[in-house]
Amino acid sequence: ATPSAVLATLGSAAKSGILIKGGEFLEVCRNVTVLVLDKTGTITSGNMAVSEVIACGSYSRDDVLLFAATAECSSSHPIAKAVVSTAIDNGLSIACTGYAQQVAGLGIEDIQQDHKILVGNRRFMESKGIDTSLILSKARDDMSGTSEILVVCDTFLIGILYVSDTIRPESSAVFAKIRQLGINKIEMLTGDNQVVAEQIGQQCGIEPGSVHSGMYPGDKEAYVSKLQKRGEVVCFVGDGTNDGPALARSDLGISIGSREDTIALETSSVILMQRGLSALPEFIQLGRRTSSIII
Ligand code: ADP
Ligand code: MG
Repeated sequence: ATPSAVLATLGSAAKSGILIKGGEFLEVCRNVTVLVLDKTGTITSGNMAVSEVIACGSYSRDDVLLFAATAECSSSHPIAKAVVSTAIDNGLSIACTGYAQQVAGLGIEDIQQDHKILVGNRRFMESKGIDTSLILSKARDDMSGTSEILVVCDTFLIGILYVSDTIRPESSAVFAKIRQLGINKIEMLTGDNQVVAEQIGQQCGIEPGSVHSGMYPGDKEAYVSKLQKRGEVVCFVGDGTNDGPALARSDLGISIGSREDTIALETSSVILMQRGLSALPEFIQLGRRTSSIII
């Protein structure tokens, strides 16, 4: 493509909310063989809701929510937003401690009044040496389709939150369109559990064999590398810090700009600013059209 054709395309794409960091990323669109996406906030809306709060021992549900929301209030993770807004809806007033640390793919760690507070998944608690056998007896087994978030004070389980997510309304249609464009391999990588991940996959036409759960940020990156070694040209779409390494590794890293996650935005080559995934097939088509204009 001529430099002026490329510039014109970059400019008009930007007007429709597609920020492309260079003309070379238009060229890649012709060669992409596999689309790999993160789940939470990318295939799903990331507008999560707390659907159940279980309190253990002498703690009340408000206690559990307050500890969890205090830990989560500085995080931009979709789960954090759900926990904080539920606490506010319940009339709780929350103040961040300034000690909270997000641990990608696992949860969040905080110090509240000399107590160590952990909020996250089972793997997070196991990594911290917490005995998770008690958790099994408290956990609800009829909450499938929701993600289980444990709240631990020092080494004691004080509660469990169940959070649910909804698929983006456009996801199914976007994947159908991507397949029409000849990209037939679509895969999902997520830090969440397999049951939830497969359910979301089923709703948008990604078969169970292409759904990969329990992945740390490094696992996502390694998966992209593995595909590349097989000769695939990988387009990766993600929204969060946990996607940074995979976005940087892939041939075409695209982030969904909705979450204002600076790491995701910095490590991607293309940013879809509004309209969620709808802009994805549009971008691929745009790239192919522009790079087919011969000088
Ligand atoms: P995805 O890969 O689908 O975007 P993440 O890697 O962001 O998901 O998160 C994976 C899992 O890590 C979540 O399902 C949750 O169990 C846990 N997790 C991550 N961040 C948090 C947080 N701030 N609070 C609670 N749990 C979290
Ligand atoms: Mg995500």
